Amino acid sequence: MVKTSLKAREYQTLEIENQVFPKRIQDTNTKTNSIKLDLLIWNFLNKFNFSKFFHLFNKMCPSCGRKFSEIFIDYYITKQISCKKCKYKTIFSTFLISFVLNAVSRSLNIPKKRFPEILRENEPLKRLALSYIEGIGMFGIKTPTVPIGPPVVFWSVTHRCNLNCTHCYVDQDVKEMPYNEACNVIDQLSEAKNFILIFFGGEALLREDIFDLMRYATDKNINVALASNGTLINAEIAKKLKDIGVGYVQVSIDGLKDIHEQIRGKGTFEKAISAIKHCLDEGLYTCIGTTITNLNVHQIYELVDLAKSLKVQKFEIVDFVPSGKASLQAHITLTPLQIEKFSVIVCDIWQKLIEDGYPLTLSYKNPIFGRILSERFPKVIIAPFFKSIFSKEALSYFNFSERLQSGVFSKQSPFSPFITGCECGVFTMHIKANGEVTPCPLNAASLGNVKNHHIQKIWLESPILNQYRSLKFEGQCGKCNYKSICGGCRAKAFISTGNSMTSDPTCMLEIRNIKI
Ligand code: SF4
Ligand code: SF4
Ligand SMILES: [Zn+2]
Repeated sequence: MVKTSLKAREYQTLEIENQVFPKRIQDTNTKTNSIKLDLLIWNFLNKFNFSKFFHLFNKMCPSCGRKFSEIFIDYYITKQISCKKCKYKTIFSTFLISFVLNAVSRSLNIPKKRFPEILRENEPLKRLALSYIEGIGMFGIKTPTVPIGPPVVFWSVTHRCNLNCTHCYVDQDVKEMPYNEACNVIDQLSEAKNFILIFFGGEALLREDIFDLMRYATDKNINVALASNGTLINAEIAKKLKDIGVGYVQVSIDGLKDIHEQIRGKGTFEKAISAIKHCLDEGLYTCIGTTITNLNVHQIYELVDLAKSLKVQKFEIVDFVPSGKASLQAHITLTPLQIEKFSVIVCDIWQKLIEDGYPLTLSYKNPIFGRILSERFPKVIIAPFFKSIFSKEALSYFNFSERLQSGVFSKQSPFSPFITGCECGVFTMHIKANGEVTPCPLNAASLGNVKNHHIQKIWLESPILNQYRSLKFEGQCGKCNYKSICGGCRAKAFISTGNSMTSDPTCMLEIRNIKI
């Protein structure tokens, strides 16, 4: 267990000394909106348990022996049910599932007739839909909705790394699973209907059998992604990734050359840039990932310009969490007030990108950002069902029919206009190199080990994940009406108090003790 001496309130006193905080380029909206009515209604409905209405979803038809969830989705795709018993028993449910899937296709601007075809053609997407249907069968309709297995898994296949970055939290001294055990993990993930598997590290490319593992996963119809520091990606490796079917590569850039190399070491900037170019040359969906700290926050506008000039598809800003050995670097954390101000700056950049035709997808991985975005953008749509919000304007630049048809990571990731709250137990889970499972790479709370328990069992039965899903947090997060789209960072709560159900210590609502 990682527990640092950093107490919640002490975050306030950490001020930027060495760099100048960036100024806003424009005012998107200086006023904040009041809380949305639909969010209050969702929060109210969440108090009731409707799970018993949906138990049928996970049962088998006694006549044809098929699972009802599969019968529903097949009906949605083909409009046919061959078994008479199923037909009679499922009238209400097939209608309900069709209604929900039509609503999903409508909100994604996909023509009603096209969505069933997309599900038929895209096996992983069909599996994802099944995962949610079966999740509803198990947990009922809730906010957030819990699928039957983790849709997105971060897998730190190795903790070894060829760099030693300032903000790194990874303990390199962790034994790796051998190839056959690692393949068993992929088998488990496939059984748990995993949708996206992110090969993570350390530096994942240092693992000798990395390409075999990636191929093993793509052969199982799992969408494979890679997060890398970029230093080992040359033209040949980029081609190999493409040939294997890797759909998404994220390369870390933590600033312009001076700052990036101050954080990551000499000679790393050019290598990362060249990795990005090789990936783009191969037509890979390529993303720049930046961990934001007080070392690089002043370069945010230049970083967006860099991402635009390289023509990467996505720029992902990740909040720094002083987890693991990064607790020694807690002083580079943005203060709560700075996170609030920085989020508003990201709102401005988002707005500007949308006005410019959305040349670059932008995301900021900090649950608080969802609250700030919804306070400032009246047109943002609340989707507590998926613990997220999305912008209709951003969405309008996405031709989902085309994108989902050609895969999950085509041109721009179809899921990019969504800004999610804390994803632990809702979308994501993390597996360490030794098989230990934690809620996310930065949240060190141990959930079990895939060597002892099936990953799906851990996902469904972990008391910690089920507590997160209940949204019954302590302090401000527990009282806050934004909790169903935000939920606070559980890793930060764990670091500051040793209990991951306490309030996010970096939220201004917590600092000012404001109930919204
Ligand atoms: S109090 Fe918690 S749930 Fe509410 S906005 Fe802040 S971090 Fe999110
Ligand atoms: S605990 Fe939640 S918000 Fe915090 S880093 Fe992990 S997924 Fe993100
Ligand atoms: Zn039947």
